[in-house]
Amino acid sequence: NLKDIATPSRTKEILQKHGFSLKKSLGQNFIVEPNILASIVKAAGLDEHTNVIEVGPGIGALTEYVARSSKQVVAFEIDDRLIPVLEDTLSPYDNIRVVHQDVLKANLKEVLAETIDLEEPLMVVANLPYYITTPIIMHFLESELRIDGLVIMMQKEVADRITAAPGSKAYGSLSIAIQYYMEAEIAFIVPKTVFVPQPNVDSAILKLTRRDKPVVEVKDEKFFFELIRASFVQRRKTIWNNLLIRYGKTDEIKAELTAGLEKAGIDPKRRGESLSIAEFGKLADSLRIELL
Ligand code: SAM
Repeated sequence: NLKDIATPSRTKEILQKHGFSLKKSLGQNFIVEPNILASIVKAAGLDEHTNVIEVGPGIGALTEYVARSSKQVVAFEIDDRLIPVLEDTLSPYDNIRVVHQDVLKANLKEVLAETIDLEEPLMVVANLPYYITTPIIMHFLESELRIDGLVIMMQKEVADRITAAPGSKAYGSLSIAIQYYMEAEIAFIVPKTVFVPQPNVDSAILKLTRRDKPVVEVKDEKFFFELIRASFVQRRKTIWNNLLIRYGKTDEIKAELTAGLEKAGIDPKRRGESLSIAEFGKLADSLRIELL
């Protein structure tokens, strides 16, 4: 029966009580619409067995919604001014731990293990600071944590790029880097009016679900990702031209690229944006890395 933090009046009251002014440089756009929070929690499919990591609790609007329908929340907040505020607003809950750290610098596994059993279901639910959306997602995906899924608010344009399919304008190395690990879909679009202050960009809730196994099995993951990045350096150029720029234009390199592309069944005149993740995988495995 607690009053929601996320109503416009309660948010205003909390900010005033603590003399808090929002910092644009930290991506502080707070949600003041409880219905959106309910939809986010629903999209995450939380239950009393699931632990949740949150990034940027702000004054705790989403945090309390998540806490009400999960086992334990661990929330990373960088802004020291918010720590006493959160102590106040989240005091009714006994299953929330606020960690005063930059999430990008945090040793996630170590910090999480202090509070939760890492074998239990684990989700990330957050309204992300938009200036570091991609680094945060990659930090989670590349961590050693077994995260079952992420339900995260971000700029709609970034969500479009992450979920893009081959051949579309938004498809690129970011789509592949994330879809390699996770199934990606846009859960819903969020109007600007639910935030204080309102951001200049449109927002969306992205839902990422861990795959049982990667879309492709590759011999050398590092080379696979390097090849993808190289293929998109100049979007308008063919894969052939981009790879020559990256690996050099000698006759040896040309011969190796020709052979590799042919073995993978890829026309050198195609552009990177037309290749599926599986095709990039095939190409990576068809090239003799030691020659490049
Ligand atoms: N969760 C609140 C909400 O939905 O109303 C606030 C979300 S606000 C978009 C982003 C939050 O992330 C802010 O509280 C900001 O201080 C915090 N933040 C920004 N950079 C961060 C970082 N590197 N690590 C942890 N938190 C960060």
